[in-house]
Amino acid sequence: GEKLLQVQDLRVSYHTYAGEVQSVRGVSFAVEKGETLAIVGESGCGKSVTAKSIMGLIQDPGEIKPGSRILYEGRDILKMKKREWRAYRGEQCAMIFQDALTSLDPTMRVGKQIAETLRVHGRAGKAEAAEKAVELLRRVGIPNPERRAQEFPHQFSGGMRQRAMIATALACDPKLLIADEPTTALDVTIQAQIIDLMKQLQRELGAAIVLITHDLGVVAGIAKHICVMYSGKIVERGTSAELFYHPRHPYTWALLKAVPRLDLKNKQELATIEGTPPDLLSPPAGCPFCTRCRYCMPVCKEEMPPDTDFGGGHQAACWLHDPRAPKVDAPFVVRK
Ligand code: SF4
Ligand code: MG
Repeated sequence: GEKLLQVQDLRVSYHTYAGEVQSVRGVSFAVEKGETLAIVGESGCGKSVTAKSIMGLIQDPGEIKPGSRILYEGRDILKMKKREWRAYRGEQCAMIFQDALTSLDPTMRVGKQIAETLRVHGRAGKAEAAEKAVELLRRVGIPNPERRAQEFPHQFSGGMRQRAMIATALACDPKLLIADEPTTALDVTIQAQIIDLMKQLQRELGAAIVLITHDLGVVAGIAKHICVMYSGKIVERGTSAELFYHPRHPYTWALLKAVPRLDLKNKQELATIEGTPPDLLSPPAGCPFCTRCRYCMPVCKEEMPPDTDFGGGHQAACWLHDPRAPKVDAPFVVRK
């Protein structure tokens, strides 16, 4: 497929009094037109910082390091001028967040907010914009859209607010939608409805989606490709099927609540990942997962594991796949 977005060797640091926190440490991936790519990992792994970088939202004390490239339709957005930025953000690329209340204006009627977005980007005149706003609310599954357009965000339930935010993001018909934990604040039933809505919109609009989440369960039915991030790096990547049925990295196993065959009786205990990720003020020389990994070998602490290629774009960075490593039983994957 044709590449819409290419992130190449992205490095992002935050300058703090204690020193430089290396939040994103050389991340590369590509998104094809109309496809959904999921970036999965625990909080603090750099996935939101990656999303913000794509939207041009990294601000002081954050810094995108020289050498990083983010190509949108082949053009490096990090080199864009202000005017080009405005056109890119909102018209080409839109973002949905975990909490709609932070992105919707609490003092403005929901329909008006969407209409304003349409007008700012020159997508509609005044009368037409109000009509289009109602149409967008209908499209994202909000009942009685004419009436709801007249209400304020606080009059909406959490799920309905999330839908309204999605409607705002869709106002300019973006080719790329960045969704950062779009369902995390919602209860399970509503989560499923929002994921269904995103699937439906993707089918209808053909927009590419970068879906950022800590929950692998959320991405199963929607993502074509998955990148698993840990401590500022992508530790495993591949198609959704590969990652769910043939995961290769111990961190992915942990995310999938995977346990070795011999250890079935302990599966409850292993369902949460014990320990904490390394301090990114002074990242470890070796594998960043070594302090939490039950398979850790001496080499892991000393040297960064290289990517091993399993074909079809499936890669994992783990010393277990070195020919010299001891053989480990394929883990038993517990699925929900
Ligand atoms: Fe575990 Fe070593 Fe693989 Fe890191 S490289 S995930 S420590 S086995
Ligand atoms: Mg986050």
